[in-house]
Amino acid sequence: MINPPKIAVYPGSFDPITLGHLDIINRGLKVFDRLVVAVARNSSKKGLFDIDERMELIRCACGDNDRLQVDTFEGLLVDYVRRQNAGVILRGLRAISDFEYEFQIAQMNHAVEEQIETLFMMTSAPFSYLSSSIVKEVASLGGNIETFVPAVVAKALKNKFASDDRCEGA
Ligand code: ADP
Repeated sequence: MINPPKIAVYPGSFDPITLGHLDIINRGLKVFDRLVVAVARNSSKKGLFDIDERMELIRCACGDNDRLQVDTFEGLLVDYVRRQNAGVILRGLRAISDFEYEFQIAQMNHAVEEQIETLFMMTSAPFSYLSSSIVKEVASLGGNIETFVPAVVAKALKNKFASDDRCEGA
């Protein structure tokens, strides 16, 4: 019997993608045949970048790869994962502080759809304390974030905050 392809969905806000996310994506591609990076549309969370901008930044940061797809979803994650014919939800784990939240979501998703497994990858050491929020905060204060995000994201953050300044001064 031929094994079915192993497809995983890596969901998140990706507002914006950081080198921590990219590390999980690259390592995920070593384990799965196909990886879908899925940007969550969450109406209650207004991001810095809109969904299309986030997807474009992910595409630019990841480059061309037939096995990688960038998409967006709304509603129940497990429904989306099923529509993708995927069996796995991939998540990254940083400090212990991530654990409680991830544990709850993974338990709930498994209760709703037991055919879908959540797999966690430990962050690589250099990215342990890296998050999109901290990067946005530092960038908004004019700090250098180039070692934490792909070059295309550093540029986009600079533009975002530069245009904010122009608005304030107007
Ligand atoms: P969410 O709002 O769903 O947490 P994020 O974009 O913050 O969306 O994170 C998406 C996924 O990537 C989560 O599983 C998160 O734990 C993981 N992640 C974020 N930053 C890192 C990092 N520096 N190292 C490893 N995993 C990370």
